Amino acid sequence: MILTEYHYKDFTFIGNSEGGIHTSIAIPRLKIMFDTGIGSPNLVEIPKILLTHGHLDHASGLAYLISQRSLRKLSPPEVYIPPHLYEPLDKILKLWHQIENYESKYHLIPVNYNDLYPLQGNYYFKAIPSVHRVPSNGYVIFEKRKKLKKEYLHLPGYKIAELKKTNPDIIETRLEPIITFSGDTQIEFVLENEVVQNTKILFLECTYICDKRPVERARKWGHIHLYEIIENAEYFRNIQKLYLIHFSPRYRKKEIKETLKKLLPDWLYKKTTPFLTKEIFHKQPLESVPENS
Ligand SMILES: [Zn+2]
Ligand SMILES: [Zn+2]
Repeated sequence: MILTEYHYKDFTFIGNSEGGIHTSIAIPRLKIMFDTGIGSPNLVEIPKILLTHGHLDHASGLAYLISQRSLRKLSPPEVYIPPHLYEPLDKILKLWHQIENYESKYHLIPVNYNDLYPLQGNYYFKAIPSVHRVPSNGYVIFEKRKKLKKEYLHLPGYKIAELKKTNPDIIETRLEPIITFSGDTQIEFVLENEVVQNTKILFLECTYICDKRPVERARKWGHIHLYEIIENAEYFRNIQKLYLIHFSPRYRKKEIKETLKKLLPDWLYKKTTPFLTKEIFHKQPLESVPENS
């Protein structure tokens, strides 16, 4: 499985994503990965897995990664999941223990949608429900920042320093949405969540980009069509960087790049990158593709 790296500001994103085939994107700095895809040996050292849903192109690598971590004597991974997945996943992982005759440890954590979970440094994350054919999560990563309250902004530096000594109340703590990962979802994930619209870096699925697979079909399978992003472009004004993921394997990379350039409004195109695998050889689209991609 070939992994690709993209960089934006302080972050490196490593992974791959193709609709119906595999999706897994890791942020080494935060020690997390979104989804496992089919499981890459190069991502085994990432200890936290934020699973969006149980479809196999997103979750089939879970048993493999858990087992690999155990065999390499790494700590049991923390796996955050939509609550309904707890029982079936726990069952399937225990069955793999039987099959392997080896018990690897793991922590399955059904998310509480009101909780803020700590990550490295000042970073935290929250799960929000997305809109797919099965219960699914998107994830938002926040940075906790200390800021001077608005009413003190006009004061000179020395005054602020003086005030700070006597009145710590002049500082407030704010949570800023830095990275959002949609998983598989319909466009409502963006339209109905202000926090998604105001995130700095958005990873958004965009499974279809052509007329042969129209918007109705995308919606039927719980996905987003490029036309819906264009139609709702205003919702993307505040986003600084848009990574589009989960393109159907029916499209050539060249076709994806050209279509984005042709159809996206210029201002949105400039901040959009399709998260495509940079392969050494030219990949042909698959001749047969899964029905849902
Ligand atoms: Zn998928
Ligand atoms: Zn799915």
